[in-house]
Amino acid sequence: MHSTPLVFHPTRPHTDQAVTQYAERHPIVGSRVELQLLTTLRCNLKCTYCSIAEGEVLESQGNVSYSLAQLDTFITTHLSQHDVYVTFYGGEPTLNKSFMQDVMQAYPHFRFQLQTNGTLLDKLPSSMLARLSNVLVSIDGGEKVTDGFRGAGLYQRVLSKLAQTREHIAGSITARVTWSSDEISFDELDNLSKTFDYVYFQFVAGEAYTTAAIEGRKAVLAQLIARFFASTDTLYPFIPLMGCVRNKVMPQRAAELYDGKTQCRVSTHILNVMPDGKIYPCPDMMYLPEMLQGDLVNNWLQASPLQPHPNMPCETCAAYTWCRGNCMKNLYLAYVKGDQKYRQNVTDPICELVRFMGEEIDKYHPKAWFAQLPLALRKQITDCEVYEYVEIMP
Ligand code: SF4
Ligand code: SF4
Repeated sequence: MHSTPLVFHPTRPHTDQAVTQYAERHPIVGSRVELQLLTTLRCNLKCTYCSIAEGEVLESQGNVSYSLAQLDTFITTHLSQHDVYVTFYGGEPTLNKSFMQDVMQAYPHFRFQLQTNGTLLDKLPSSMLARLSNVLVSIDGGEKVTDGFRGAGLYQRVLSKLAQTREHIAGSITARVTWSSDEISFDELDNLSKTFDYVYFQFVAGEAYTTAAIEGRKAVLAQLIARFFASTDTLYPFIPLMGCVRNKVMPQRAAELYDGKTQCRVSTHILNVMPDGKIYPCPDMMYLPEMLQGDLVNNWLQASPLQPHPNMPCETCAAYTWCRGNCMKNLYLAYVKGDQKYRQNVTDPICELVRFMGEEIDKYHPKAWFAQLPLALRKQITDCEVYEYVEIMP
């Protein structure tokens, strides 16, 4: 169990010893930090499963209300020793384009990512698109499923906006699929890999897991994994499969950037800053007062309160060396808050799917497969930059 986190009182280190002590007591673990700035809590869509809608967070605030000077004071005080990468998040972040522009101009040496529903991409100037290292576009598989969750015509609209802007986006474009529907098929996911540079999927944290639904997802996973290992000269760019294989071939990589904790970074180095400046580790838990980690306006920051807990089952789980506690929100609600219904209907079925994924991958002898890859492909598997921007595990 974690101890009560220390509130960080900034002091400028002047000696090697001071630098070491500074690093030891800093609330951010390691030298990188993802600063996820929620530019607004407004959105132009009404997706049925929106995770930000949990706890009625969506639409509870408008645009950012802190000033750029306050943001700068916070960054200078707490993050001046870190490699900072900014993700613009929301709501729909592009609804507050001017804030995005101001931040990009103020910190030209930072890396930037955009998490978007894709519908307003064409409203961003090419100068901004050229600065994005990765664009995460929410999409739900195929046209029928996407339009069912997001509204009629959405799938084609997003593809059209991507076609218009693609040549201006300098970085990668990653489909972000929330695997909510039983109807999402292998063909639909496979198609996304032809349009996007990468596909990231995450099992929905909702009550979607009947026995038939779990079996259906396992069947699709088995097809994806078979396709993944079918070639040694091209990459099948599914981030959870790439990451899982990386972790099996090099388990130490699963630990090194996260202090041995969850790869979604919530226990170590991601800060979700609400438009009012309040800071939380997980964007799906910003309604829980015990998750408050800092305040940009009042310029304080403490270690993440979302930490591994003895009640969580991970350390005795066969998947632990490569999964490392997939989703801390799911584990916290089920095993720390003790929500049995959530555990039975959400957390445990997702763990079953994660374990299945690992067992299925093992059938293809990932180390032997990896050994046959050309060096450029090995590099993609071991060091893909997109791992830094998503949770890796589904
Ligand atoms: S599968 Fe579940 S229990 Fe096992 S390590 Fe992952 S999150 Fe923990
Ligand atoms: S994977 Fe991590 S960031 Fe995503 S909901 Fe779970 S705890 Fe939060």
